[in-house]
Amino acid sequence: MKLVKLIANLGYGSRREVTAMFREGRITDVDGEVLYADDKVEHARIRIDGEPLDPAPGLVLMMHKPVGYTCSTRDAGRIVYDLLPPRWRSRDPALSTVGRLDRDTSGLLLFTDDGALLHRIISPRAQVVKIYEATLAEDLRGDEGTLFASGTLMLESETTPLAPAHLDALGPRHARLSIGEGRYHQVRRMFAAVGNHVEKLHRISVGALALGDLPPGEWRALGADEIALIL
Ligand code: URA
Repeated sequence: MKLVKLIANLGYGSRREVTAMFREGRITDVDGEVLYADDKVEHARIRIDGEPLDPAPGLVLMMHKPVGYTCSTRDAGRIVYDLLPPRWRSRDPALSTVGRLDRDTSGLLLFTDDGALLHRIISPRAQVVKIYEATLAEDLRGDEGTLFASGTLMLESETTPLAPAHLDALGPRHARLSIGEGRYHQVRRMFAAVGNHVEKLHRISVGALALGDLPPGEWRALGADEIALIL
């Protein structure tokens, strides 16, 4: 791919704007040699104003999503994309969230621009296990684990029962729940189905990838070894 297209696709500007950046000599190789719009140069060697180029397509990010941000590209309030470099919103292929977390849910959120990977992770057939910690309004009754594991729990206005899920009680009003599906508001609706209410919800892992100690609002790109942990 010609450099001008590669750089424009990374969100640095329109082709016309990027062409002007070439003319101004702002795009060089790692040794400071000025590059031209139709040069072909290895991604890692390109510099813009002396800075390395943003990562190439095929990107997977993990973020510690804070409460109060929505997983949409447009919203009147705060959105998770506000936490990424502004230019990244204009990347082509676009960077999308891998599934969604509710505005009031915190924890591990993934992004990728790799459509095939996205579909492999969110496909119901893949049954990638997501683990959540929930703080509840009411004490656990004691039978929730059996019911959630039964594969018979039906959520309101749905026609198929939920696949078996695993519940660990961490305290009277604190539970860890592992689910393979990703239905709309699934965890909140599961607890609602047993007469409880989720007050706080936090996702700690997706597949074998854990959020770890990444602080709220922070994100980082994943290496191939970490991407392999998701599936
Ligand atoms: N289940 C929910 O109810 N909300 C989330 O954000 C994720 C899973």
